[in-house]
Amino acid sequence: MSPDLHTHSTASDGTLTPTALLERAAAAGVEVIALTDHDTLEGLAEAGAAAAALGLTLVPGAELSVTWGGRTIHVVGLGLDPINADLNAGLARLLAFRDWRAEEIGRRLDRHGIPDAFAGARRLAGGTLVGRTHFARLLVQRGLAESERDVFKHFLVQGKPGHVPGDWATLEEALSWIRAAGGQAVIAHPARYGLTATKLRRLLGEFRELGGSAVEVVCGSHSKDDAFVFARHARDHRLLASAGSDYHGPECPWLDLGRLPPLPPGCAPIWADWPEERRPRADKPTAAPMPLPRAARTSSA
Ligand code: AMP
Ligand code: MN
Ligand code: MN
Ligand code: MN
Repeated sequence: MSPDLHTHSTASDGTLTPTALLERAAAAGVEVIALTDHDTLEGLAEAGAAAAALGLTLVPGAELSVTWGGRTIHVVGLGLDPINADLNAGLARLLAFRDWRAEEIGRRLDRHGIPDAFAGARRLAGGTLVGRTHFARLLVQRGLAESERDVFKHFLVQGKPGHVPGDWATLEEALSWIRAAGGQAVIAHPARYGLTATKLRRLLGEFRELGGSAVEVVCGSHSKDDAFVFARHARDHRLLASAGSDYHGPECPWLDLGRLPPLPPGCAPIWADWPEERRPRADKPTAAPMPLPRAARTSSA
C-alpha cells in the first residue's frame, strides 16, 4: 500500500485527535503516514508517541499556505525537523495572519447579519488555530447551509460575504522554511487550483527552481484522470510523485484512510529513496541484505 502523506488532525481542521487518527490509520492497514496539519506542527509530538505505540511510521509534516499569483496554493512539507527555528518562525507568521483573518471573517459575517461567528468558530476549533472549516461547521450547525461545501460556496470564497483574501507565505519563503527544516516540498492537490496550462507550467517551473521535490499525484480530491494528468506533469518537470488522502475525519465517509489508489505507472515515488524504515513494506527489499563487514559499515555511515 502507498504511504498516506497528507492528513489532518484536531491540531488544525481535522476532527480526530492525532492519536485517534493514527489508531484509525493502523486499523486500516496504513504503515507509513504523514501528519500535515495546516500551518502548524502542534500535533506532531502526540502523533509521534501514538505512532511508536502502534508500530506505525510517522513522517512529520505540515501543509503550508502560500499566496502565489494572487491565489492560495498549498505546499506540503514532509520529513520536517519540528524544532527548526526558521520553520517555526515562518509558521508563527502564518498563524498570526490566520488569527487576524478569523476575526476579520467574523466581522464580515457579522455585517452580513450572522452574529458571533468568530466566537463560535473559535469554540469549535477547541483552542487550536481557527480555519475556514470551523466557520463552515458552525454555519451548518446553525442551519444556514446544508453542508460545509455549501458554506464555502455561499459565504467563504471570493465574491462571497465572509471572504478575506489570503496574505500567506510566498512560494519562495515556504520552500526555504521547508528546506531549512530538512524537509521535502510537495505541491498539494494541484487539480484543485483550476490553473490554465500556462499558469500550471509556470507554477511547477518556479516550484522546481526553488527546490521543490514533488507533485501530489494521487489524493483525495483527485479523480483517476487527474492522477494520470498530474503524473505526466510531474514527469515533464522532473518532479517526484506523492500520494495523500487529505483526510480530515470520518465525517467524509467517501474518503477513508487506507484506500488510496496506487500511483499511476511511470511515476517516481517521493519515498523511493527514503531511509528504509520510512518506506512501506512492499517497497522494501524482500531478502535481507548481506551484512557488511564492520569496516565497510562504519566507513559508509
Ligand atoms: P483555510 O486554510 O482555513 O483557508 O481552509 C482551507 C480548508 O478548507 C481546506 O483544507 C479544506 O479542509 C477546507 N475546504 C476548502 N474548500 C472547501 C470546500 N469547497 N468544501 C469543503 N471544505 C473546503
Ligand atoms: Mn483542511
Ligand atoms: Mn489543502
Ligand atoms: Mn490538506
